[in-house]
Amino acid sequence: MCSAADNQAWMLCPQCDLMVKLPQVPQGSRASCPRCHTVLTTSWTEPRKRPTGYAVAALFMLLLANLFPFVTMKVAGLSSQISLLQIPKVMVSEDYSSLATLFLVFVQAIPGLCMLTIILLVNRVSMPVSLRIGLARILFQLRSWGMAEIFMAGVLVSFVKLMAYGDVGLETSFWPWCLFCLLQLRAFQCVDRRWLWSQIAPLPPLPHAPEKGISGIRQGLRSCPCCTAILPADRPDCSRCGVVAAPRRKHSLQWTLALLFTSLIIYIPANLLPIMVTESLGTPYPSNIMAGVILLWSDGSYPVALVIFIASIMVPSLKMLAIGWLCWDASGRGHRDSEKMHLIYEVVEFVGRWSMIDVFVIAVLSALVRMGQLMNVYPAVGALLFALVVILTMIAAMTFDPRLTWDRVREHTTKEPRLDGK
Ligand SMILES: [Zn+2]
Ligand SMILES: [Zn+2]
Repeated sequence: MCSAADNQAWMLCPQCDLMVKLPQVPQGSRASCPRCHTVLTTSWTEPRKRPTGYAVAALFMLLLANLFPFVTMKVAGLSSQISLLQIPKVMVSEDYSSLATLFLVFVQAIPGLCMLTIILLVNRVSMPVSLRIGLARILFQLRSWGMAEIFMAGVLVSFVKLMAYGDVGLETSFWPWCLFCLLQLRAFQCVDRRWLWSQIAPLPPLPHAPEKGISGIRQGLRSCPCCTAILPADRPDCSRCGVVAAPRRKHSLQWTLALLFTSLIIYIPANLLPIMVTESLGTPYPSNIMAGVILLWSDGSYPVALVIFIASIMVPSLKMLAIGWLCWDASGRGHRDSEKMHLIYEVVEFVGRWSMIDVFVIAVLSALVRMGQLMNVYPAVGALLFALVVILTMIAAMTFDPRLTWDRVREHTTKEPRLDGK
């Protein structure tokens, strides 16, 4: 058995399963994996005050952003003004409650809830340990589903689209919303998972002395995907957080491929069916993604046409290809070096959520462009299908186990974890 301090130093890299002995990380620095360069832990100065400050400020900004009007649009003497909460309301009135729910959940509820959870956990507010563990489990799972900053990008794209038709004005709520996006990102950044879990419950003792530079699975050890504790490979549940897992995600490739094929099937109608209907002087003009890009391009809005093309057409197709390639490689058929495949995995993980931009653009347009007889914009079924494709490919990337990419690397790594400033 090892001492508690020694116990705390050992960590299995969550991305490549390498056993690492963490050095003393000076405050304000972070340690990354010597093999795949994933950040393993960050030691923050003021680990409580910092995230609390950012999270409280973010929640306050979120409140402000919902109190006042968000944007106005003026066309030919007619003006239309919306607040953030009116966006889902308009979608519900158009029988698109599903899109409205996605909007409310991803853009407002999840980021807001995460901020609240950070404040409660970081400050050790008195509550039963089981509730604390439950909240911490939820916090790290919800993290990738917060899309406040993607909505912000969608708002900017819709402004450029609308400038061709009339005057777009920013209202009082716009700036608090921008600040909310930045502050919530920063609050997340300032919470170190390992530190937070050590505040909640002590690390379980190591099953046996680990050997550094060798993957966990070769020494009968596995990492808890939630709290990063090192556990015996054959123990299904974690003694600290209770999360049930296996040394490698069970049926990871099958799940990923199944989700990938489903999203591929939905991707076809999502591209062919209209994503929105523009009604001008009583005549409806449905348009799909590609038609929208072509229209923008022919109007001379090259940057927006490019943004939409990259986010809605290039990224989803390349992402599906990349996930397929990762699965093919991880099943042992590929001969690519693991570092390259790992880079692809990281890119897929990072860009996944950004394809939602187009869905948010439609949400903003359909809420704002309500000009009576002159012009109206409605969401159409393609937008919903497209949102589904993005969500399914996100889950597909999440079910893929990146450690499979590294399992065929047999050599012993003698490099030490890298320390650098943030
Ligand atoms: Zn690693
Ligand atoms: Zn755990």
